[in-house]
Amino acid sequence: MTGSSIHPGATLERLGQEAIRTLAEGLRGALVTPDDDSYDDARRVWNGLMNDYPALIARCAGAADVMTAVEFAREHDIRLSIKSGGHHETGSAIVQSGLVIDLAEMNSVQVDPTEQTARVEPGVRAGELHHETQQFGLAAPTGSANDIAIGGSALSGGIGWLRRKHGLGIDALRSIDVITADADLVRASRERNEDLFWGLCGAGGNFGVATAFEFDLFPVGPEVMALGVFYPAEDSRKVLSTFREFMSEAPEELSALVLSGHVPSLPMIPPEAQGQDAIGLMGCYAGSMDEGEKVVAPLRDLAEPLVDLSGPMPFLALHELGSAMFPEGRNYCWRSAFVEELTDDLQEAVIAHGERAPSELCSVSVWPLDGRVQEVDTDSTAFPWRDSNYMLTVEANWEGTDSTTYIEWARETDAAFRELGATGAYAGFPGLDDGDEEMARMVYGENYERIADLKSEYDPTNLFTETSNVPPAGG
Ligand SMILES: Cc1cc2nc3c(=O)[nH]c(=O)nc-3n(C[C@H](O)[C@H](O)[C@H](O)COP(=O)(O)OP(=O)(O)OC[C@H]3O[C@@H](n4cnc5c(N)ncnc54)[C@H](O)[C@@H]3O)c2cc1C
Repeated sequence: MTGSSIHPGATLERLGQEAIRTLAEGLRGALVTPDDDSYDDARRVWNGLMNDYPALIARCAGAADVMTAVEFAREHDIRLSIKSGGHHETGSAIVQSGLVIDLAEMNSVQVDPTEQTARVEPGVRAGELHHETQQFGLAAPTGSANDIAIGGSALSGGIGWLRRKHGLGIDALRSIDVITADADLVRASRERNEDLFWGLCGAGGNFGVATAFEFDLFPVGPEVMALGVFYPAEDSRKVLSTFREFMSEAPEELSALVLSGHVPSLPMIPPEAQGQDAIGLMGCYAGSMDEGEKVVAPLRDLAEPLVDLSGPMPFLALHELGSAMFPEGRNYCWRSAFVEELTDDLQEAVIAHGERAPSELCSVSVWPLDGRVQEVDTDSTAFPWRDSNYMLTVEANWEGTDSTTYIEWARETDAAFRELGATGAYAGFPGLDDGDEEMARMVYGENYERIADLKSEYDPTNLFTETSNVPPAGG
């Protein structure tokens, strides 16, 4: 992650021209170095705050290239990172002065509509996966934005718009092909290398480079009933407490969240509503349109809305909204925590900190996590937070250089939630101080020791560090 001061030139000098040439010749894809015109483009990530300079970027064309790159990193003792889509907020995809395994070009999707499965390479964006599966009225659970890649998103959990009906992304995984630290290709599933599969599902960045995923698909769309209504901030208390009661009884087809902040400034929103202090409800009904309209109707009638975008919407367009709200290149610091109960005090904190946000781009969100998410056994994956009923997230989003104000607001908001009982953190939204052991303990909770044991088996030298990293047990 950002922070090392070693210049990539020093690494390149240590490696020497001969070793670099041999690596380049051993790859089917291109090897990008700081001298190449494509270098700056290849090292760019979604979060504009991140600006690391790797020594080498291996644009892998397939699993064989990944094996070659892993072997090279181990042999030459060079730090390694994995970039599928480059959308993790920490910029962990790009390692300063190290070797990046870039999987963007491994982006094929093969759908089997009869079996309702898809084989997906890690560089595939969520929107690309939905594009292929929606052709057959099918979908896999992914995160809620089109431009995040499957590599990072599926391995951290995948908490999205289908979660209450079909679970997390990891719950829909049948198998994962992974290149381990020994540069071996291993297939992991519930029947084969079960322990590795367990660890990959939630703590994936620690164990190797995933080169293919097999997903179960579910009948969804191509149009879904979308919920997207924003009320004036003065109605926040009523909206949030009604939402809490409503969701405890709502059918599992409805996955939704509350966003305390402002109406987003997006082209489909009337200019007079944009940027107003607001509380918003966003969601997806993954079932029949008629039922969906009836189910979400009460949530559209809680007060006089500033804007109501609810209605039939392509499943893909719903995810496009997630990308449009958080465009690449802006600055971001997102934090997360989990709670079993959304107490009145926590509701007040959500509203107060949303109102106190340093700009209209920021928000505080509440994601109900029940339904199918909780029907899966807690110990069946490395994701430890299924028993929590809610994830709370803080989204500090800004342009310009006044980063301290925003990072501090995110930290204070997160601290306020923790004082009121929130705990843990989500691997997808760990905050910018990810990378230390304390944060990894927060992300993996009670599974930390089991992950450390597994790590000592599959990655005893801790080659894969650029993630919420768990060092090998005993090491
Ligand atoms: C706009 C936006 C919306 C989001 N919404 C959601 C959401 O609704 N739900 C949710 O759960 N998450 C969400 N996320 C979080 C997102 O899932 C993570 O940021 C995820 O890491 C993005 O995947 P990526 O492949 O682009 O990551 P990258 O930045 O490429 O990779 C991040 C890390 O993941 C690991 N990794 C990536 N690929 C592989 C691989 N092939 N093998 C092994 N390890 C790998 C590595 O440790 C790497 O450092 C969102 C993120 C953004 C930017």
